[in-house]
This record gives sequence, C-alpha cells and structure tokens, in this order.
Amino acid sequence: MLAHIANPEQKQQFLEPLARGDVRSAFAMTEPAPGAGSDPSALATRAVRGEGGWRINGQKWFITGADGAGFFIIMARTSGEPGQRGGATMFLAPADTPGIRVERHIETLDRSMIGGHCEVFFDDVLVPDSAVLGAVDRGFDYAQVRLGPARMTHVMRWLGAARRGHDVAVAHVAERQGFGSRLGDLGMIQKMVADNEIDIAATRALLTQACWELDRGETAANATSIAKTFAAEAIFRIVDRSVQMCGGLGVSGDLPLARLSREVRPFRIYDGPSEVHRWAIAKRAVGAARRARRAAE
Ligand SMILES: Cc1cc2nc3c(=O)[nH]c(=O)nc-3n(C[C@H](O)[C@H](O)[C@H](O)COP(=O)(O)OP(=O)(O)OC[C@H]3O[C@@H](n4cnc5c(N)ncnc54)[C@H](O)[C@@H]3O)c2cc1C
Repeated sequence: MLAHIANPEQKQQFLEPLARGDVRSAFAMTEPAPGAGSDPSALATRAVRGEGGWRINGQKWFITGADGAGFFIIMARTSGEPGQRGGATMFLAPADTPGIRVERHIETLDRSMIGGHCEVFFDDVLVPDSAVLGAVDRGFDYAQVRLGPARMTHVMRWLGAARRGHDVAVAHVAERQGFGSRLGDLGMIQKMVADNEIDIAATRALLTQACWELDRGETAANATSIAKTFAAEAIFRIVDRSVQMCGGLGVSGDLPLARLSREVRPFRIYDGPSEVHRWAIAKRAVGAARRARRAAE
C-alpha cells in the first residue's frame, strides 16, 4: 500500500526502513463496538484539522504487531458521521508520537504474531499535514489496495502451514499400525488424506488465479474474496483432519498440529469474516445478473 500511495518523503521515512526489516508497521482500523469492525463505515476514531496539523482521538483493538511497531497507519474519520460511507483518511505516525498508547495484548487463540494483537489508544495525537497518506477522505479506497495482496499473503502463509500439518499426519498414518493394517491403508483415514490433498490443490489454484489478476494490475476484489474465504475454511479443515489422524499425539505439544490449529482459526475472521466475503461475492453476482437483464431489455 505504501509503495502505491505514499509520496517520496513518506516512502523514505516509512517504507524504506520497513522494507529493510529495520522496523515493523501496524495497521489500526478495527474498533470496539459500536466502532468499525466488519462494517468499516462505523469508523468512530476522529481526526480534526487545526493548528499544526491533525488531532487524532480514538480507540482501536486487535491491532496486530502494535507492541514494538515502528509506526502506525491509523484509519480515522475526517468527515461524516459513524454509519456513513466514506470520510476516512489514513495517517502515518511514528509509534513514539505523544498520545499513542499500546494498552494491552488481547489474549487470542493464536500466539505467533510478533507484537501481539493489541488494544491501542490515540489520545490527542498531533500529526502534521505531511502524515496524510494519499488524499484526505480516500482511506476506504486505499484500504482496498492493501487488502487484496494482504489476504493473499495470509493465504500463502497458512497454506504452507496446512501443508506442513498434512505432511506430518501422512507420515504418521503411513507407518502407524492398528487392526492388522497400517492406518494409512484404512478407508476412513484415506478419505481424510484425499480430502486434504483436494483442499490443498483447490486452495493453491484459487490463490494462483487471484494473484495472477493482481499481477495484471486488477483490483481482483472478487477473486481475492473467493480465494480468501475458501482458503480460510479449507486450511482449518486440513489442519483439523491432520490432528484427527494423529490421535492423542495430534493434540499434544509433541507435534506442531495442535499449535497450527490454534493459529489458523482466526483467519476466518480477520481480513473479512467468511460471511462478509460471501455477502460481497453474492452481491456482485446478483448485481451482474440484474445488469445483464436490463441490458437485454
Ligand atoms: C487475530 C486477529 C488479528 C487482527 N488484526 C487486525 C489488525 O492488524 N488491524 C485491524 O485493524 N484489525 C485487525 N483485526 C480485526 C478484524 O479485522 C476484525 O475482527 C474483523 O473485521 C471483524 O470485526 P469484528 O471483530 O468487530 O466483528 P463484527 O463486525 O462484530 O462481526 C462479528 C461476526 O458477525 C458476522 N457478520 C458480520 N458482518 C456480517 C454480514 N454482513 N453478514 C453476515 N454475517 C456478518 C461474522 O460472522 C463476524 O465474524 C484482527 C482480528 C483478529 C481476530
């Protein structure tokens, strides 16, 4: 997103250290109820323009990597009221800007994200005009630029994790003996192995299609929604079957499967819950059918 939208000064200050791996960033959008969640238009954090720049006030939570981040990308309302579409702006702020407070790590199922998932307060945070990323009131448009590739990198990571879980389980059932046979030769185990292979192949195909569209410069909103929704659910199924095939060992700390099952579950919620993606996919399909019907009349 920074590569696409930031100006040269912002790229130098924020993107270059990020790309070098010197700092981490955190993207601060989600708020406790009644603020922004699945429905971003509920955005309640405000930025008001005054002397010396913009003053930002609000509360965010589930902000991944906030603890120890070098800077924040803060989504704040610059016009309109919560519940209204549009009116959001993204601001770049170094983490040590006065008024930014990482209050706590929220305990979640997953544990692997560096910097946790945090509750963060923005109390009278003063940032200069130069902190505006892109144009004022265009924040929701820019969020779409971020979301497609971000979703696909999550799919890549969790597909790799699921593949690893599957490999561990297949290696186990290939050797483990029971009932005069090896587990991997029993029909119900074979079904789980085959279903995992199918879910892995289908996820990879949808991921490749969506990335191909992104590489062509398209927004790929539908393709990334389809790939993300399928992948988040398939990856959970793959890891869950892998746990099952390994029996008691599967839920133990001796194999990576129990940990993987905790890590992949939240993916069905962040970067758009499955229900919201299904809703968007269906709206596009129904809308296209209506347009086709009108064009034919
Ligand atoms: C591990 C993790 C990391 C996260 N990292 C970040 C981050 O770095 N930055 C950030 O800003 N946010 C982050 N989030 C927040 C995440 O984006 C939100 O949790 C998500 O958008 C859902 O919002 P919500 O939790 O407020 O749920 P709600 O909006 O309250 O939705 C609750 C449930 O209602 C259902 N639902 C919602 N809308 C619809 C609909 N239209 N139709 C049918 N059902 C619906 C869904 O099942 C949904 O799960 C993270 C969350 C998690 C769990």
